[in-house]
Amino acid sequence: MAPDYRTPTIGVLALQGDVREHLQALESVGARATPVRRPGELAGLDGLVLPGGESTAIVKLATIFELVEPLRAALAGGLPTYGSCAGMILLADRIEGGIAGQTTFGGLDMTVRRNAFGRQVDSFEADLDLSGVDGGRVHAVFIRAPWVEALGDSVEVLARVEGGVADGRIVAVRGGVDGQLLATSFHPELTGDTRVHALFARIVRERA
Ligand code: GLN
Repeated sequence: MAPDYRTPTIGVLALQGDVREHLQALESVGARATPVRRPGELAGLDGLVLPGGESTAIVKLATIFELVEPLRAALAGGLPTYGSCAGMILLADRIEGGIAGQTTFGGLDMTVRRNAFGRQVDSFEADLDLSGVDGGRVHAVFIRAPWVEALGDSVEVLARVEGGVADGRIVAVRGGVDGQLLATSFHPELTGDTRVHALFARIVRERA
């Protein structure tokens, strides 16, 4: 039987971070969601989520589990992937403010600044206009979040912070070879609003 692409299979990298919340959000937008801890579990995925957590810890564990090269290859091969917060850092080709020698999986031609918002607004919430998401502004939760410092032509800005000290900072983008990569500085998996996951599932279905 042919696979049913209305129910795409989307993996969540399950090394560290808020894996369970992403699995639930993906199921609620009609995907089959599955944790990924081993290279073999990348096979057969229609899409992948890199969760929020701690980017340095995720890369360290991915190295131990021999996932770094398989993940880079999957991303370079066009696997639709969504990264939130630490996941956004992991999708960036370049980091500012990383620990010495910190690497990423890459895919998005951009520079992210890690822990960008600084002490006073370490964690905060804001309502954003998010391009590609209908039904009103998205309530965004930022936790020691990165922002996008610079981007290449292949990366499109979907949202910026409005007002306050971080006014105008880029916090959501889409890019890659054909728009298959999505990244947000914030954590939609924590708010119960599944519209960002629905957008990602749409990106996955279009390519499955
Ligand atoms: N500051 C974290 C990092 O550098 C990201 C925080 C998050 O994912 N909530 O990876």
